[in-house]
Amino acid sequence: MAHTRISPRRDNRSVRPVIVAGNWKMNTTPSSAGDLARAIADATDGTDVQRVLFPPYVCLAQVRDALRGRGLEVGAQNLHEEAGGAYTGEISGQMLRELATWVIVGHSERRRDQAETDEIVGRKLRRACEAGLTSILCVGELLEARQAGKAEQVVEAQLRGALSGVADRAEGHDFAIAYEPVWAIGTGETATGADAARMAGVIRATLARLGPDRRADEVPVLYGGSVTSASIGEFLAEPALDGALVGGASLKVDEMAGIVAAAGLVAAARRGAEGLS
Ligand code: PEP
Repeated sequence: MAHTRISPRRDNRSVRPVIVAGNWKMNTTPSSAGDLARAIADATDGTDVQRVLFPPYVCLAQVRDALRGRGLEVGAQNLHEEAGGAYTGEISGQMLRELATWVIVGHSERRRDQAETDEIVGRKLRRACEAGLTSILCVGELLEARQAGKAEQVVEAQLRGALSGVADRAEGHDFAIAYEPVWAIGTGETATGADAARMAGVIRATLARLGPDRRADEVPVLYGGSVTSASIGEFLAEPALDGALVGGASLKVDEMAGIVAAAGLVAAARRGAEGLS
């Protein structure tokens, strides 16, 4: 499958890509997903923004086919931590390779509902890496941790737990981090742009200490949590943030059009600032 790498160019003029990722969660069906994907592609055409849609597993083939030649990529919402075997109902990275180029790892809904630990998330990340999938690793604190002033500690621990097992094997592995405070997911509440940017700084400092092969400042950091076309501007105004992981709003064509349009302005400004065409 066509796969755009997210690693910035290897010369000195490294510009991180601007990414808008749409997590459809448990919505759409095989007969409706292709139409939604096509409508989003039509409404967000002609942009520098890296756009990735994450439909449910059963809709991956339809979305892949609908997006062929359109410049958007397809991702899965999860993968299993083993490469294959007696795991009824599970999906491996190797299976996904034929259908998708991206995968979400460690989404808070899975940490909550499937009791995914940092250790499991780390094993999934390694499988994604082996399968050649670009990962979005999700991290973020619960409301109690934030109120206790422990948000940064939690995010650091999540990164350490997930990345320590892959740091030495991450050669060539493309990944982005999504900072998604759990209290902001699906609630209509958002972090402030300044808060999310501060956490992006913590994330890059932690990545630098963990030492995967890619330089910490090359890793895109996205914000996620109730992003809409009305709120995206606050996050994209922060140079430390490189886009958004969008849940509910990614099912609405007009919302996606607005979010990608705002992201496109930022992508163009960043390229202009670097003197890139
Ligand atoms: C998400 O699912 O990652 C998410 C951020 O959802 P929402 O935008 O609906 O809060």
